[in-house]
Amino acid sequence: MSTIFSKIINREIPAEIVYENEDILAFRDIRPQAPVHILIIPKIMIAKITDLNGAEHGEILAKMFDAVNIIAKNEGIAESGFRTVFNCGSDGGQEVFHLHLHLLGGRKMNWPPG
Ligand code: 5GP
Repeated sequence: MSTIFSKIINREIPAEIVYENEDILAFRDIRPQAPVHILIIPKIMIAKITDLNGAEHGEILAKMFDAVNIIAKNEGIAESGFRTVFNCGSDGGQEVFHLHLHLLGGRKMNWPPG
């Protein structure tokens, strides 16, 4: 199943890309919930990784968190702190079914989240 994120990977629709390597693409969320709000996604939708359910995500998850560390430094939020979020499924509030990690920073985060 193709999603809007596949179109961003394929450059069929525009996005403000902040980081890319052979496995990972990261771009600014179109509806930012914080001064820094970046989505980090694997390029391998062909592997049908839609959400956190299921096994065999370990390698790609590690690569996504490697990207978090690089991007947090680049965005100047590594020292002040940030939040990472995976929304999973209906109760998790997931809208786009292509695995993605939210990186949020640049303001004080609230807890508990809504
Ligand atoms: P979810 O709710 O699935 O965890 O997060 C999906 C995120 O994708 C939302 O924060 C939403 O604003 C973002 N999003 C949806 N469509 C687009 C788009 O076309 N471009 C960008 N840059 N972000 C999008």
